[in-house]
Amino acid sequence: MSDAVSALESACAELTGLTVQRDEPLARHTTFGIGGPADALVVATTEDEVARALVATERHGVPLFVLGGGSNLLVGDGGIRGITLSLSGALAELTVLEGGRRIEVGAACSFPRLTQAALSHGWPPAVGWFGTPGQVGGALVMNAGTRHGEIGEVVVEVRLADAGGSHRLPRSACGFGYRTSAFPPRSVLTSALLQCDSHKSTEVEALTAMAHEQLNRRRATQPKQRSAGSIFKNPPGDFAGRLIEAAGLKGYAVGAAAISDVHANFIVNAGAAAARDVVAVAEHARAVVQQRFGVSLEWEVRRVGEHR
Ligand SMILES: Cc1cc2nc3c(=O)[nH]c(=O)nc-3n(C[C@H](O)[C@H](O)[C@H](O)COP(=O)(O)OP(=O)(O)OC[C@H]3O[C@@H](n4cnc5c(N)ncnc54)[C@H](O)[C@@H]3O)c2cc1C
Repeated sequence: MSDAVSALESACAELTGLTVQRDEPLARHTTFGIGGPADALVVATTEDEVARALVATERHGVPLFVLGGGSNLLVGDGGIRGITLSLSGALAELTVLEGGRRIEVGAACSFPRLTQAALSHGWPPAVGWFGTPGQVGGALVMNAGTRHGEIGEVVVEVRLADAGGSHRLPRSACGFGYRTSAFPPRSVLTSALLQCDSHKSTEVEALTAMAHEQLNRRRATQPKQRSAGSIFKNPPGDFAGRLIEAAGLKGYAVGAAAISDVHANFIVNAGAAAARDVVAVAEHARAVVQQRFGVSLEWEVRRVGEHR
């Protein structure tokens, strides 16, 4: 038995009472429908279980990856070594406070559920979240949203766990930017306290109508096939999709991975695409856009695990 395998065995042996799935195909857990196996997919349902997983991985030197809703990920065909931690149960709770001015929400709560709750209490930024899949933890890490609103705008503080225990981090220390944040490495977000001071400044019905209008626009302009959303970030002052389309790359395909005919900043899995097909398509697009327009596109989708 190799050192890595015996370290993983020892770490998993400490996780009694937690669900541990060995060699779980991550294609089942990503919106792309792509990804090799997790050595061990561990489900934590409480902060205490998260802490135990963190301590066990730290003690045995086992790599740790946190999986949210898998909607911004390209997991390599080789899968993810060590423990892939998924959150559930009590970590998915949502509580409305102060008559709807604040919401306390667990990292495993679905982002659409939070969006719905925020809209129903008249939170304008939630219009920009509408239609974004995933979980709250992933939304915080990606500072998810659109130009109509990002989740980072309403964060008061997040609660996160690391091998040293549980901490609160104020918004000012979260490093929110365009599709980015700066949470400490090897930390697991467990919940967030959100606040919207302009709640109910607009009628709930008007906000909901705006959100649905946005969703209809999305449906008309985004592909229905499996994807991980926008593959690249928009470069300053331009749109990645416009550049890729202008380079004549709509429909460009490798295997079953293709640049969508509907929106050029989406790579779709039209069948049984492999991660290496998606990387080949994306890197071709990046190279052509660089050559034609001198613009260097940056990946928005996170490539994780072993790519080969
Ligand atoms: C059809 C479609 C449309 C989309 N539209 C949008 C959009 O309009 N706007 C937008 O911003 N995004 C969009 N996305 C991308 C994606 O939905 C968001 O980035 C989403 O917030 C990712 O959340 P997730 O839970 O799926 O995270 P994942 O993809 O699972 O993970 C993303 C990152 O967060 C980390 N992470 C997840 N949970 C935790 C946690 N609890 N603690 C620590 N780290 C964690 C992961 O390790 C990973 O690094 C879209 C995706 C799809 C498929």
